[in-house]
Formats: sequence, structure tokens, C-alpha cells
Amino acid sequence: MTTIITSPRENALAALFGGTFDPIHYGHIKPVIALAGLVGLQRVTLLPNNVPPHRPQPEATALQRLTMVQLAIDDVGSSLLDIDDRELRRANPSWTVETFETLRRERGANAPLGFIIGQDSLLSLPQWHRGLELLDICHLLVCARPGYGATMATPALQSWLEARLTRDARQLHRQPAGLIYLAQTPLLDISASSIRERRHAGRRCDDMISPSVQRYIDEQGLYR
Ligand code: ATP
Repeated sequence: MTTIITSPRENALAALFGGTFDPIHYGHIKPVIALAGLVGLQRVTLLPNNVPPHRPQPEATALQRLTMVQLAIDDVGSSLLDIDDRELRRANPSWTVETFETLRRERGANAPLGFIIGQDSLLSLPQWHRGLELLDICHLLVCARPGYGATMATPALQSWLEARLTRDARQLHRQPAGLIYLAQTPLLDISASSIRERRHAGRRCDDMISPSVQRYIDEQGLYR
């Protein structure tokens, strides 16, 4: 595995990792730490989502999800990870593309910006609100996820993907947006829904969640 070392600098590639995190688990944390090594990220910012009212709502409250993200970061014990809670602070849910438009305005036109997603999210991106437009605003840094194929749903979408693919992670630091990097991160067969199901069935999930998050779930009586 090649690890890219970059020196800290103002215009470093900023990478944000959005998710419902209901709850945050090792399938989020471990691939992202590996991705940071592969790409040379100084910082990965976790961006917990607000869930629009027409979608199934998370079981944990926004505050509980935010707390679990903070506890997972504390358990990692590194300055690599931090949180941006802007989506949870908004009165109305915002689309990812709108959050990234705001981030782009804040950072300026030339600053490299990346959105971290899992392979399943890459495949479903065409169904997201203005999903493909994200590439006009940022790069996509994609973590491998077991059980999800490598090709997009149609030949046109596959061509769209291939036109933007880069194998050279250094490119992500040189241009502000527009590239897709498929990272060979470790495969972890963990999902938040399987954790919730296991908990509903009274089973523990110690090997899937970090210890402080597990304790918090027990204390709060979540996912019973
Ligand atoms: P759920 O099972 O409730 O759908 P989830 O486990 O997929 O949840 P989310 O919070 O919805 O978790 O995911 C946030 C992001 O993390 C998404 O981009 C998703 O693709 C990615 N992700 C989640 N689990 C994994 C995993 N095991 N490996 C790689 N990426 C993952």
C-alpha cells in the first residue's frame, strides 16, 4: 500500500464524510482512516446528516447521533477526525449538494474539496438530488464496501464514471473538483441497519462499534 505524505498547508485537500451514523460503526471509521493514508489527507470531517421528513427517520435523535460520532472520534484518539455539525443545526434538512455549494463558497474556487462515500453511495448517486452535479463542486473519494458491484447501472453512467476516474491520488490535491478516486480500503461487512437489527434481537455488536459508542448505546437504551 502506498501512503502519500503531504505537509500541512492551508490549501490542503479538505475531505468530508457524510452519513446518518445511526449508529457510527467500524465500517465507517476503519475504511476512512485507511483512505486518509492512501490519499494523504490531513483531516477527515464527519458530517452527520439531517434526514428529510419523507424518508424513514433514524432511531437515535440528532443529538444522540452527534454524541456517538464524537465518542467514536475520541476512541480513535487522533487529530485526523473532526465533526462538522452544520446539517444537524439547520432547522430544515439540506441536500448534500447544497451543503457542498456552501463549503465551496467558504473555501474559495480553487481549494481542493472531497466528498467521501462508500461504493453503495457511488452506485446510488444518480438518484440523489442533483447527485451528479456534486462533481462540479468536489471530488468523490470512494471507499470499497463488500456486496456492491464495481459498475454503474447504465452504460451512460459507466462512461460518466470512467471519464472522471483517477488512479493518481496526487491529482486530488492539484485540482479543486471533478475527479473520482476508487480507494482500495479494507472491506468491512458492517452496516448500521444490521447493527440495529442485531440490537433489536438482543445481540451485542462489540466487534462492529467502538467501546465508548457501545457503552453510550447501552446507557441510552438505544436500538432495543
Ligand atoms: P444503513 O445500514 O442504516 O443504511 P450505513 O451503515 O450504510 O447505514 P450510513 O451512515 O448511511 O451507514 O453511511 C454513511 C456513508 O458510509 C455512506 O457513504 C456509506 O456508503 C458509507 N459506509 C457505510 N458502511 C460502510 C462500510 N461497511 N464500508 C464502506 N463504506 C460504508
